Amino acid sequence: MKILNLGAGGFIGSHLTHRLLNEGHTVTAVDLETEKVIDCLEHPNLVFFQQDIRKPGWDLDALVRESDLVMDLIAYANPGLYLRIPLEVFQLNFVENLKIAEACVRHGKRLIQFSTCEVYGRSAATLKNAHVADPEDPIHATFSEDTSEYILGPVSKHRWIYSCAKQLLERVLHAYGIEQGFNYTIIRPFNFIGPKIDFLLHEKEGIPRVFSFFMDALLNGTQMKLVNGGVQRRCYSYIDDAIECTYRIVENPGGVCNQQIFNIGSPANEVSIRQMAELMREIYAEKFRDPAVRLPEIVSVTGEEFYGQGYDDSDRRIPDISKAQKLLGWEPRWGIRDILETTMRYYVGEYRKNTASSVVAGNG
Ligand code: UDP
Repeated sequence: MKILNLGAGGFIGSHLTHRLLNEGHTVTAVDLETEKVIDCLEHPNLVFFQQDIRKPGWDLDALVRESDLVMDLIAYANPGLYLRIPLEVFQLNFVENLKIAEACVRHGKRLIQFSTCEVYGRSAATLKNAHVADPEDPIHATFSEDTSEYILGPVSKHRWIYSCAKQLLERVLHAYGIEQGFNYTIIRPFNFIGPKIDFLLHEKEGIPRVFSFFMDALLNGTQMKLVNGGVQRRCYSYIDDAIECTYRIVENPGGVCNQQIFNIGSPANEVSIRQMAELMREIYAEKFRDPAVRLPEIVSVTGEEFYGQGYDDSDRRIPDISKAQKLLGWEPRWGIRDILETTMRYYVGEYRKNTASSVVAGNG
């Protein structure tokens, strides 16, 4: 197939680009950055446009017209950004993504749209008047694509603008499906993690996600900060598992993914953020420790201190993956400890390589 991969240079996009090329597809890739796909830029089946999709200089319609399938991964997807630049988050994640979807509608092309598990918001157990017998029962935080209700905070908690923008985009795709027979598939990732996720604090300006904050603290011996005590829970999914499922959606056997939404995640890998901090520190001490740097202490900070005003959080989210299991025969394989250790190994390697080269450059 000829696949247009928008956002091909990001964390998920870069892994996907490699997989698509390895499977023999022809890929037209668009992204602001090339760093994460640097090793395949010369591939004969890849054309890469280094382009900000908000700026002139590219022809969306022509690229869509020439493709058999469009994949859209373009988004701001770091909670720190929802707080700092909520309008840009809305512009990119809704307005710009809508243009892509509408180009697919115009040209009758199938679209695989990456959305987010944030659309589900918080768990029912957090509602003040919820009369749940056992708030710890995972049933209250297990989200299903076609039946779960969405619970978001008030407008003043502007973290939710991301969730809302993505939700509206999904609803528009669904409406195009109903009114015009548009063929889309929506993917809701649940906390993918693996090599190439984000950047470390010192490398680039910006606000990464929790794994990178914790790695940075481990490498530099600074504090690992738990926002609001780290009681929030996430299910982490290894990028290889996630790409395997995504690729089955690309293949779309018998059209089972047409006009469908899929959760992709690993329900068995649930950890609280505190548990994750402790596990990362333990793995680091055991496998990667630089004896010259002390192990960090784990401290608690408020959401406002860490992110600023308007922060709110998703307390717990567990993917119901029965749809992907049933329709695609997919099963996640990686457990949380192996996921963390493998991803940490990559970051420690990158960090030490960069530190060594900056020392050499400094001496030179
Ligand atoms: N968090 C934390 N310490 C940090 C960074 C994040 O405790 O240094 C928390 C954050 O408040 C959230 C969870 O970790 O509850 C996961 O945050 P992340 O930014 O990775 O993204 P999310 O899963 O919320 O989309």
